[in-house]
Amino acid sequence: MCWAQQARAAFLAAGEVSAKEKSRIVRMAEQQAQRIEGRLGLRLRRTVLLILYPNHRAFVAAMGKEIPRLAVGVATQTGNTIHVDASGALMAAEQALGHEIVHAVLAQGLGTQVQALPLWFNEGLAQVAGERSVGQVGALLGRVAQRRRIVPLSALRQGFPATDEDSGVAYLEAESAALLLLDETGWEGLEELLADVGRGADFGAALKKATGETLPQFERRWQQEVSHAYRYVGAELLVDGLIFGVMAALAVWAYLVARRRRLETRDEEG
Ligand SMILES: [Zn+2]
Repeated sequence: MCWAQQARAAFLAAGEVSAKEKSRIVRMAEQQAQRIEGRLGLRLRRTVLLILYPNHRAFVAAMGKEIPRLAVGVATQTGNTIHVDASGALMAAEQALGHEIVHAVLAQGLGTQVQALPLWFNEGLAQVAGERSVGQVGALLGRVAQRRRIVPLSALRQGFPATDEDSGVAYLEAESAALLLLDETGWEGLEELLADVGRGADFGAALKKATGETLPQFERRWQQEVSHAYRYVGAELLVDGLIFGVMAALAVWAYLVARRRRLETRDEEG
């Protein structure tokens, strides 16, 4: 008779991987979802179908040619389905899953209001909230600072650039901006911001309430913080940052492509 003991069936796995692997990944996803839901103050409302692929070739074949060669995960727009290359060949399944689960929690938790989030915020949060531990904001801003070309955040509200290199930088920028925001508001502040958006607030209004800054003011100040972050740049970050940028770009692009192609079928309403 205890409601709390009712098991949540938040994830179901399908695909051409062993039953053992499916249950391992479902358990992993449940744990990650719990952490992510706690951080964001939002909950999955429907079961998420995890479609697991045994190798990268199978993942790419199923996703189609629009998905980049190295993509590892796709979250659909409604957050009801996540496709993952479970082989771990390009990126640990855990890391890819964490990122995509944040997209799913945001999409299901906010409903259509998820569209009110700037893309840089959605992607940046996917990376920051999906990670087990949160990185140092200064170091991340330093990684952005060393890039030759920085795209203003205001240009990343609706879409990311098309080339691999530019999308990698955009992704790094998004993560650093989300981390800067987190550094200032804490998870409680982000939770409240998301709750405001969930209740129908404009993102700019919710941000203003959380930080005292308008969206353009925050975006400009992020750029100033980047320019002050050179002190964090070390030679070792050059290589590190490059690899990070390329790898991190993958999930982003997969998500965007999925949005465009509407991979999800309509059998999930209700
Ligand atoms: Zn993403």
